[in-house]
Amino acid sequence: MKGSMLKHPRSERPAPEVLATADVTIPRHELPAGEMTPDDAYQIVHDELMLDGNARLNAATFVTTWMEPQADRLMAECFDKNMIDKDEYPQTAEIEARCVNILSRLWHAPDARQATGCSTTGSSEAAMLGGLALKRRWQRQGRTGRPNLVMGINVQVCWEKFANYWDVEMRLVPMDGDRYHLSAEEAVALCDENTIGVVAILGSTFDGSYEPVAEICAALDAFQERTGIDVPVHVDAASGGFVAPFLDRDLVWDFQLPRVSSINVSGHKYGLVYPGVGWIVWRDAQALPEDLIFWVNYLGDDMPTFALNFSRPGAQVVAQYYNFLRLGFAGYARVQGYARDVATRLAGMIADLGPFELLTRGDELPVFAFKLRDEVTGYSVFDVSEALRERGWQVPAYTFPKNREDLAALRIVVRRGFTHDLADLLLEDLRRHVQRLEKQAVPARDATTATGFHH
Ligand SMILES: *Cc1c(COP(=O)(O)O)cnc(C)c1O
Repeated sequence: MKGSMLKHPRSERPAPEVLATADVTIPRHELPAGEMTPDDAYQIVHDELMLDGNARLNAATFVTTWMEPQADRLMAECFDKNMIDKDEYPQTAEIEARCVNILSRLWHAPDARQATGCSTTGSSEAAMLGGLALKRRWQRQGRTGRPNLVMGINVQVCWEKFANYWDVEMRLVPMDGDRYHLSAEEAVALCDENTIGVVAILGSTFDGSYEPVAEICAALDAFQERTGIDVPVHVDAASGGFVAPFLDRDLVWDFQLPRVSSINVSGHKYGLVYPGVGWIVWRDAQALPEDLIFWVNYLGDDMPTFALNFSRPGAQVVAQYYNFLRLGFAGYARVQGYARDVATRLAGMIADLGPFELLTRGDELPVFAFKLRDEVTGYSVFDVSEALRERGWQVPAYTFPKNREDLAALRIVVRRGFTHDLADLLLEDLRRHVQRLEKQAVPARDATTATGFHH
């Protein structure tokens, strides 16, 4: 192995040995026959990971890339705690329960003393649990047809997984013109007596827009009056669950709407915790069928659990509680408010550059999508994305789904740690690249030749 020429800060300066002595080949796909020193192993893995993108320049991800050093320390202290060992770590279990209570109150559950919910590994696991509860409630009504779930085509892939793994038909409302998410009318049109629920997304991954949860609920109320069919709503608030309560206090989207039966959120997105934690909360105990619950021993007592995993790290749950305590309502409002300021200002400046047109402005989630004007024919959004990568910025370009496959866009996610100053640097790079690309005659990349991007 060649020595790394990169300068390391003092604390992570390479162990001198490994740079001069490491073997030519390090086995990568089989277990090495013998041992190496911890320093050597550390340095080899550390050096390889330098090839990963810089997480702070990653405008593609919604997931937290910066936490306070005190949170880092707390997490390190909890790396050895298993969330399922409620008996051994009763205080970690207590902290999880407090977080569920906090979220129930934040989302206006009718009786937060009866808070029903749990932590998960992320919104994907939370979606499985929410979907399973909907399916079981539907089965309980004695229906025998094939169950279906109604949602917009912009749903995150976790809902496609849910439908596939648990054999539920997906009824997807396509996009149409400049409607990039679910509408109330289209949702109701797909409902029937085998609909286990409608999923409404608070913060679409495609463009950061909120789906009209209250309108969807009202339309389903009217549908019930007409047909007698009662269709519950699950809100996938993976991002918005930690944005709307602080910044859009007049928006009614949560348990204030009686039809909303469950809500999921990603603690590791705008909950501001490193990857590995999500939450699901039901409006009350009745919304979660009891036969889905398993009981584990907890200090000689039985404690209910509902989860796909058994063992799971406890550190992220502790870090979530740290954030709640540290930031409080005002702190979350400040952090998310700053992100939205950065997003709306950057969106405005990008619109002013000339060749771009905004699809959203960053004024719902601090996330916005933009496209090239139709007159721009010499380069594509995929060229722009690739150009930004040269400086380490990760700004994904992608095409939209059904009925708007013609639309290709770029998306920027602003989250904690992305400052106005970084936004200015990104804008300067974008301006420079656009000047160069304007001289190009035909696009170099399209959706098929661009590097993959998954939501
Ligand atoms: C990110 C996201 C998910 C998946 O969440 P994970 O926490 O990454 O598992 C689901 N739905 C929406 C709307 C999302 O933004």
